[in-house]
Amino acid sequence: MTEQFEPAPTTAPAIPVLVVVDADRLARVTTESALVRRFQPDYRIVTADSPATGLAALEWLASEGEDVALIAADLQLPGMDGVAFLERAHELHWDASRVLLLAMDRYHTRIPFTELAALQQATALGRIDFWVVKGWVTPEEWLYPQVQDALTKWTINHGPHHVVYRIVGEQWAPRSHELRELLSRNGVPFAFYPVDSQQGQQLLREFSVAPTRLPALIRHDGSVLQDPSLADIASAHGIQVRPTTQIYDLAILGAGPAGLAAAVYGASEGVRTVVNEELAIGGQAGTSSLIRNYLGFPRGLSGAELAHQAWQQAVLFGAEFVFTHRAIRLTLTGDNHIITLNDGTEAAARAVIIATGVTYRRLDIPSLDRLIGTGVFYGAASVEAPALAGQEVYVIGGANSAGQAALHLARFTSRVGLLVRGQSLAVGMSDYLVRQLEETPNLDVRLGTRVVDGRGTSHLESLTVEDLRTGRQQEVAATAVFVLIGAEPHTDWLRDVIALDERGFVLTGRDIPQSAWPESRAPLPFETSVAGVFAAGDVRYGSVKRVAGAVGEGSVTVGSVHQYLQLLTSR
Ligand SMILES: Cc1cc2nc3c(=O)[nH]c(=O)nc-3n(C[C@H](O)[C@H](O)[C@H](O)COP(=O)(O)OP(=O)(O)OC[C@H]3O[C@@H](n4cnc5c(N)ncnc54)[C@H](O)[C@@H]3O)c2cc1C
Repeated sequence: MTEQFEPAPTTAPAIPVLVVVDADRLARVTTESALVRRFQPDYRIVTADSPATGLAALEWLASEGEDVALIAADLQLPGMDGVAFLERAHELHWDASRVLLLAMDRYHTRIPFTELAALQQATALGRIDFWVVKGWVTPEEWLYPQVQDALTKWTINHGPHHVVYRIVGEQWAPRSHELRELLSRNGVPFAFYPVDSQQGQQLLREFSVAPTRLPALIRHDGSVLQDPSLADIASAHGIQVRPTTQIYDLAILGAGPAGLAAAVYGASEGVRTVVNEELAIGGQAGTSSLIRNYLGFPRGLSGAELAHQAWQQAVLFGAEFVFTHRAIRLTLTGDNHIITLNDGTEAAARAVIIATGVTYRRLDIPSLDRLIGTGVFYGAASVEAPALAGQEVYVIGGANSAGQAALHLARFTSRVGLLVRGQSLAVGMSDYLVRQLEETPNLDVRLGTRVVDGRGTSHLESLTVEDLRTGRQQEVAATAVFVLIGAEPHTDWLRDVIALDERGFVLTGRDIPQSAWPESRAPLPFETSVAGVFAAGDVRYGSVKRVAGAVGEGSVTVGSVHQYLQLLTSR
């Protein structure tokens, strides 16, 4: 044990530990005292002066079952570099934030260029969560904001924190999954208690919940919703489910990145805007645990976080959001476009942006379709991953979203198999992800493989996989499979209204065939074959299928909407 490390007194309440490993005594003491000043007594600070003493301390903490929230290690440790140390540390405390400490170089920049190569590799391979350059004048500048951010996330995942709802239900029931997904993707804090757990049973008794109508949502004020519809939950939560006005300047369909960006730019520029979203803000991006390629976020950011910040921004600018119903019809009456929702409600708007994105392509294997939500998931890896600790899971798909899901799951589960039909990952996946997959020890990539069957009664138990070259089939144990095999645009309801390509993507601007464009003027950028109806993001033919692309298209389309509204008023 190290001279710095002292085991917690056995009578002390368990408090999370922050570990600092740095051989440079002055730097170590400076970091330690800054952390002590700001984070004690809520956290215990432990320091070590070498990799060996650091690992010994971490092993001891693991054996005692103590929570380690953050591990900071200097890049230049004697005998082992800080990145390798953090990797070893991660095996002992998989959910602690990993911080690389870097000496300041002579340029005094927030990325020391002398260590750039090490830093690039560590971030590209997901071996660290963030870095801090040492030598700051005040910790408020460079240390505290990043540490606080990491501790907030850690607390939300582990500690007691504010919850709006406590859900009691069957762990693997599709409705339990649906409610968890709805609340999680809309950023509503909740805790889930399986009905057969002691706490679940206690909650049923305490709030007189009928066990025949589960899942039940117990709100923070003690009111109970039994087996509620999504609209019931939205109404109980004060969320608008119907438009408040008859006529809007702009109706945006879909609140993924494209719809949210259009809402922010439309509302902030004085356009009376309504956004209609069927399920959750953020769209597909809301299911992505870490978006690393979005401009301005070198450490990456969660899709849900991006969506919630954008939603708040749009609401503050005056955009109205209508949730839980989907647009099912679009018709034209005079200068107004009428949008009909699936509850029959109608709203009129002078311009419309279709930002309905795409939906996942299905496997079409009946035995697996039956288990959707009970072990078979389409894209929701970030929601289910924490519940799969220690399990064997599979991801199907060969593109970036499949690679990211597999890496995220590998942080929680004992083993992840990535099943890919093609013979090479390079065809569909970014190079940095391919390298990260290769470096992840509990992840196997199986090329030239497809899933042909699955088994399980109440939830998934196994998959049958086939080697496409030999035709040999093998049954493998699996608690969950995440299917990410491409997507189809959500445009069935528009088929007779606007021009689509053969796969259902919306044609806009110059891609509209002349025969489908009735106006004497040329279509505006992002305008569809119906004047005043625009399309942005993944649903649009030719879009790049990236968050930044959707955000860019959503905001730029608002420029075309302005031009169209001017054309209307000058007629
Ligand atoms: C797991 C995963 C990881 C990803 N990671 C990255 C990444 O790291 N970097 C990156 O750049 N991109 C990433 N992507 C891709 C990126 O998320 C998408 O390109 C982006 O979300 C597209 O935005 P969008 O607004 O066009 O559509 P979507 O995000 O698909 O949003 C469309 C919205 O419309 C709603 N909707 C659909 N039909 C209707 C209707 N009729 N009425 C009302 N609402 C409707 C849907 O519920 C949805 O919320 C990832 C995607 C996934 C699935």
